[in-house]
Amino acid sequence: MSKTNGKDADGPEPGKIRETASQGDAGHRTKGKQAEKKAKGGARGGAKQEARTRRADGHPPSSAAWARAADAGMGTAPSLSPHRHPRLARAAPGIVTVEPGIRFALASVDADATGGLDKAEAKAALADERERIKALQEKLYAEHARSLLVVFQAIDTGGKDGTIRSVLEGVNPQGCRVWSFKVPSAEELDQDFLWRYHARAPGRGLIGVFNRSHYEDVLVVRVKGLVPEETWRERYGLINDFERLLTLSGTTILKFFLHISKDEQKERLEARLEDPDKHWKFDPADLTERKSWDAYRTAFDDALSRCSTPYAPWHVVPANRKWARNLMVARTIADTLEAMDPRFPPAREGLAGLKVPD
Ligand code: AMP
Ligand code: MG
Repeated sequence: MSKTNGKDADGPEPGKIRETASQGDAGHRTKGKQAEKKAKGGARGGAKQEARTRRADGHPPSSAAWARAADAGMGTAPSLSPHRHPRLARAAPGIVTVEPGIRFALASVDADATGGLDKAEAKAALADERERIKALQEKLYAEHARSLLVVFQAIDTGGKDGTIRSVLEGVNPQGCRVWSFKVPSAEELDQDFLWRYHARAPGRGLIGVFNRSHYEDVLVVRVKGLVPEETWRERYGLINDFERLLTLSGTTILKFFLHISKDEQKERLEARLEDPDKHWKFDPADLTERKSWDAYRTAFDDALSRCSTPYAPWHVVPANRKWARNLMVARTIADTLEAMDPRFPPAREGLAGLKVPD
C-alpha cells in the first residue's frame, strides 16, 4: 500500500468534524428555543423584532412578501439557516448514511440491496413520491426563502442521468436547475476550484441539482493526478467549509452516492455498445477509467468519510437495481422537503374585500 493510502486509512480528522457538530447542535438548540418562543408569541411586536434581528444578523428578510408580512405582524419568513435549525430527514430504507467522523468503506454496502422493496410496489410508490416532490417544490418556490441542493456522484454508468430524469419528472422546470459538470474550461481553471460550483448553487426558492459536483476535484482530479497531492488533500476541509457556508445561507444539502458493482458497470457498458440508440452515451474513455476502479474506490471512500458532516451527510444508495434506486432517492428528497416545511407566503392585507374589475 502506498504512503498515500496508508495516510488515508487513518480516516478523517474526527476531532475537527465532531467539534463543528457539537457547536452547531448547541447553537441550534438555543436559537431554536428562542425562535419557538417568538413564533408562539405571534404578537405584532414579536414579528417586527424578528425582522429586525434578521437584518442585524446579516440575513435580510427573504422576499418583499415576507418583509411586508413581518411589518404587518402577519408572520415571519422561515429561518434562513437549516444549520441552526436543521431540517434534514432520515434517508429512505435501503440507503446507508455515512456517519460523520467515522471511517467508511463502500465495500460494506451491498449494491444489490433494494431496501426490502418489491419492483411492482416500488413503481407505484415512485409515482406517489413524485407527486409529493411536485407539491412541496411549488411551496418552496412560492416561499422564496430557502433552497435545496441535491448532489449526485457515482462511477461512470452509475445512473446519475437516469435518476435525475426519473425522480424530477413532473417538477416545474422553472423552480429547478440541473447542472452537469464536465472537464473545467480554461476560464474555470483560472479560478479557485469551487468557483464554478458556487456560481451555480441554487438561489432562494429553487431546487438545484448537481450532476457531478465539487467532489470531482477530490475524485477524478486525485485519481488522474491533475493537481499535486497537497492540493487535493486540503480540499476536503475546504469542501466542508463551502457546504457549511451554503447551509448557513439557507440551503439544505442532500448528497447521494449511487453505488453500483463492478459487474454491473460491465453490463451497462456492454449494453451501451450493443444498442445503437445508446452509442452516443458510450465514451471509450470509460474503459480506461474502469481500469482505475480500485483507485476510484479509495478516492470515493475518502471523500465520503471526510465530507460527511452533520449538516450535509453523504447518502450511499445501492444502485444496481434502477427501480429501487429511483424510489430511495425520490423518497429521501420528498421527506427532506417535507422536513423543510416550505410554506406559501401570507397574502397581502385586505385581499378579502377585493373584486376584479370587468
Ligand atoms: P460525463 O459526466 O460522462 O458527461 O463526463 C464528464 C467528464 O468530466 C467525466 O469524465 C468527469 O470525470 C470529468 N470532470 C468533471 N469534473 C471534472 C473536474 N473538476 N476536473 C476534471 N475532470 C472533470
Ligand atoms: Mg460518461
